[in-house]
Amino acid sequence: MDIGFIGLGNMGAHMARRLIEAGHRVIVYDTRQQAIGNLTGRGAIAARSPAGVADAVETVMASLPTPEAVLAVATGPHGVIEGKRVRHFVDLSTTGAEMAQRIFKLLAARNIVQIDSPVSGGVKGAEHGTLAVMASGPRGEIAAVEPALKVIGKVFFISERPGAGQTMKLANNVLSATAMAATSEAMVMGVKAGLDPRVMLEVINAGTGRNTATEDKFSRAVLPGTFNLGFTAALMLKDVKLCLAEAKALGVPMAVIEAVACCFQLTCDEFGAEADITAVVQPIETRAGVKVRTPPD
Ligand code: NAD
Repeated sequence: MDIGFIGLGNMGAHMARRLIEAGHRVIVYDTRQQAIGNLTGRGAIAARSPAGVADAVETVMASLPTPEAVLAVATGPHGVIEGKRVRHFVDLSTTGAEMAQRIFKLLAARNIVQIDSPVSGGVKGAEHGTLAVMASGPRGEIAAVEPALKVIGKVFFISERPGAGQTMKLANNVLSATAMAATSEAMVMGVKAGLDPRVMLEVINAGTGRNTATEDKFSRAVLPGTFNLGFTAALMLKDVKLCLAEAKALGVPMAVIEAVACCFQLTCDEFGAEADITAVVQPIETRAGVKVRTPPD
């Protein structure tokens, strides 16, 4: 298949590479020339704009940081909407349901079908093609792009309704964010009281407190102090805020998630927008005066 791919960052670079390795002809675009160069070195073809990508292929995928970036790339000047060949716009970014619906309508007016397909599973999942892919949109149109989506992960059909995949993704991500924030508080408390963080994780993972932070994130990025999972606290804060907005519109109270948003906001304020999602433990460590680390073996 000929596939366009826009947004070659932490997630997109791996997904585009996997599509090339699966034998697809991949046309790429990013605002960073270096990101394009990395992919053309692996056999991708460079385009000069999102419209250039959409002139060349029927299926354009995107993995972009913010809802505003997706709106601009999809429907702005020199955007996908201006492409001559494009029929499907498959959005792998997290944008929230409202933006997905807005883009769906704008593209539909030009006979382009938007399929919102946010993903979960982190950079590791993107690298190994094990992402959870949450597709929503017309079923027949999803079927047409499914062979390509299967290269990046397991495809779940969420609904015919545009934006439903986004709602699914936000529900998943606020649980992931909550696990990271709550585990940070519990681990800092234990360490300050004199517990060994390695023993704490072993016990929690054998007990009922286990979650994605205790099973994976703490041992990979907090205990060694590397803070490098490749998903920024700023992007997670974006997702948590999108979820809060959606819950508010639906009339659903979210007191826990409000508190989680404060934790991620504090992390971005004190450690910068590029801080890793795992850095959410650091403002707590600073205030408690201890660090949840183990020396290298
Ligand atoms: P990233 O910031 O690493 O990558 C985004 C890429 O988009 C960058 O290469 C950037 O140069 C490019 N870009 C930005 N604006 C552009 C524009 N106008 N035109 C073309 N390219 C543009 O972000 P990421 O971590 O790869 O995340 C991408 C999306 O996937 C986000 O919506 C994020 O919420 C979601 N996501 C991320 C993870 C993760 O673990 N990193 C996991 C699941 C979902």
